[in-house]
Amino acid sequence: MSRNILVLPGDGIGPEITREAVKILDACRQDGLDVTVEEALVGGAAYDTHGEPLPEVTLAAAKSADAILLGAVGGPKWDKIEDLSKRPEKGLLGLRKHLGLFGNLRPAVLYPQLAEASSLKPEVVSGLDIMIVRELTGGIYFGQPRGIEKRGGERVGFNTYVYSESEIERIGRVAFEMAQKRGRRLCSVDKANVLEVTILWREVMDRLAPEYPDVELSHMYVDNAAMQLVRAPKQFDVIVTGNMFGDILSDAAAMLTGSIGMLPSASLNESGQGMYEPCHGSAPDIAGKNMANPLATILSVAMMLRYSLDESELASRIERAVGRVLDDGLRTADIAYAGTRQVSTQEMGDAVLDAFHHV
Ligand code: NAD
Repeated sequence: MSRNILVLPGDGIGPEITREAVKILDACRQDGLDVTVEEALVGGAAYDTHGEPLPEVTLAAAKSADAILLGAVGGPKWDKIEDLSKRPEKGLLGLRKHLGLFGNLRPAVLYPQLAEASSLKPEVVSGLDIMIVRELTGGIYFGQPRGIEKRGGERVGFNTYVYSESEIERIGRVAFEMAQKRGRRLCSVDKANVLEVTILWREVMDRLAPEYPDVELSHMYVDNAAMQLVRAPKQFDVIVTGNMFGDILSDAAAMLTGSIGMLPSASLNESGQGMYEPCHGSAPDIAGKNMANPLATILSVAMMLRYSLDESELASRIERAVGRVLDDGLRTADIAYAGTRQVSTQEMGDAVLDAFHHV
């Protein structure tokens, strides 16, 4: 049965990097992958054409797609839009909300060829391969009540940190299943020494554990997890945590790998439908210059094949092709250093495509 992929290039470097990723997708199709590829507007590009960052036509296409590949949205051109609901970023948040994309997978993998690019010592990070599973549609970012109000003569700001058992259970299951496919170790991160909501979080994780006897579950307080991530990050296999802790820890983990231009991500809903995107933004400072790193977007295609299309062999081939190109010393400007060959966005995409045919 043919599956349907929606490509949303977005703004800034989005169109340049998704173009290279679609070339790899086309190569997969030539090798027998049965998918159709459609394209639509989102973010500032959609606002310019439709007056909305997430037009009905794009949302309808997203809902009927098996998987979505997104470039990035936003840029200074749209920062002056006064109606916040029309800002490009709302296009992205709207997609997450309408599709119920509660499970955010953010791998932090250090390619050995890039160990020098990390801010930590090569021996601390070489071989790093962590998967952070972050709950994306609940927790303190969405809890009610929230606001700023006058109380007793001064203003008070407040948010509500809330998780239901069912929300914890569904992200827990994603994480346990992820651990089963990887190193079979799952670390659940909470603040159960202080926050009741994470006492419940810990209880639910413990309740699920016997259903996954092949996975070793551990718990860690978030402050310790932050410390361990920079002290000895290789101790982790899969980390599962709530929305806010995951937001912060996944950015810290990202920096261990050197460049944001290398990091893919996936956001999944209950039916396995997913949106795949690089972790970085639209990089307006380098947009249109053919110098952005397309590898995070190409690696997002690999995640799409693995997690939404059940094509893990093709996914591994893409990852091997990226490794081969790095072995050959090709680097976009963000990861280049003395002794490597600096290439453009398009040259990097072409090199991965060529390697894909030979790995
Ligand atoms: P950014 O990630 O776009 O850029 C930060 C820095 O990293 C810049 O110097 C940029 O040149 C560099 N960079 C980013 N991606 C790169 C790549 N593939 N290759 C080489 N260098 C790369 O973050 P920012 O500057 O804070 O935000 C710029 C715009 O992107 C804003 O409008 C912001 O709202 C938006 N944004 C969008 C997303 C998204 O679409 N998911 C995420 C973050 C930021």
